[in-house]
Amino acid sequence: MSASSEAIFQKYTAELIKAAKDENIQLALSRAVRSYRDNTRAALERYPHTVQMAEEVLEIKRRSIERMDELVAQARESIEANHGKTYLARTREDALQLASDIIGTGKIVVKGKSILGEELEVRDYLIDRGNEVWESDLGEFILQLRHERPMHIVSPSIHVPREQVAEIFSEFFGRPIEPDIAKEVAVVKEFLRDKYFDADFGMSGANVVAADTGALVIIENEGNARICTAVPPVHLVLVGIEKVVPTFQDAMKVAEVTWRYANYTVPSYVNIISGPSKTGDIEKVTTYGAHGPGELHVIFVDNGRSRMAGEDLFRQGLYCLRCGGCMYECPVFQQVAGYFGYRYLGGIGAIWTAFVAGGLENAVPLIYTCLRCGRCVERCPVSIDVPAMIIELRKRIVAAGYSA
Ligand code: SF4
Repeated sequence: MSASSEAIFQKYTAELIKAAKDENIQLALSRAVRSYRDNTRAALERYPHTVQMAEEVLEIKRRSIERMDELVAQARESIEANHGKTYLARTREDALQLASDIIGTGKIVVKGKSILGEELEVRDYLIDRGNEVWESDLGEFILQLRHERPMHIVSPSIHVPREQVAEIFSEFFGRPIEPDIAKEVAVVKEFLRDKYFDADFGMSGANVVAADTGALVIIENEGNARICTAVPPVHLVLVGIEKVVPTFQDAMKVAEVTWRYANYTVPSYVNIISGPSKTGDIEKVTTYGAHGPGELHVIFVDNGRSRMAGEDLFRQGLYCLRCGGCMYECPVFQQVAGYFGYRYLGGIGAIWTAFVAGGLENAVPLIYTCLRCGRCVERCPVSIDVPAMIIELRKRIVAAGYSA
């Protein structure tokens, strides 16, 4: 094991042990797991077609990943035809450079929750280039103030109880904030309102993209993504190339299965964005830049996804809908939350870390943390076989000369 691998392993192990002893994490996770199971069971009883639809989504994802490059090209054509601008970033560095070229410096940026954003560490990159960047998702906002990374892909601040939120908010806002969740929500809402209207750029990810129309679908409850993508004059989207599916109908099925397994039951908002705002109200002449953004920029990001698609066993990793369901069922995650993770979390996160975010060196500790119990496969709407991929990665780790 090299010195850097050793350091990564020791830091990870220390964090894992600390997390396992943290009673706040145990408490928050035990509540979250119970709530997730109850809500998902009730949602599937209320909408029983979801199980059948998940099988259709598996087929959609299978066909889409086989044609990934072709579908990305088609999605780009569709968005450009809708007067948006598109880009293809092969690496993290390319994606960050493109985002920086578009945004520049000295700008205000409001940002919606994006796992790809975490993969790229785009917020810190833009701040380092002289921009003011605000996370607008409540959980991400809390983590931005705490200088922490997400501990769950759908509920990033799942490990922070209301008392700790009150502490960090009191410090940030310079006045006492009670540990009352409604009051905590209100104070952030008030703070961000000005930022939305002062912002030069709104940034978001997308849950799924339809190649035939260029429609970008963003699922949310808080309404922050809706404001980020509609109020600032320019909307910048960073989206993984694995998110593209052939048709708008396919995209709707992917979205519905995602939100049902992500514990949304029925989301408050489903945003569908296909181009910049426009109007044809005067003489039927289409004019771009009406009430919403006048520019839409979409950066499609590869950063290791093509490599994953090129391997028969690992291709299924790209089917992941980011619903987060597997994490609630994972016995390790239930003890230590996202400390079992790097940029991506849990067993599926180990696979994504190896190929996309961090590389094999950062993935090694995660790969050996996985118990291969298979509970994630049972929960996964698209039946991703994480244990099979973990075994193959262990073989590669040994072949590469790492030890654990
Ligand atoms: S691996 Fe499956 S259960 Fe886990 S986040 Fe992805 S789609 Fe959801």
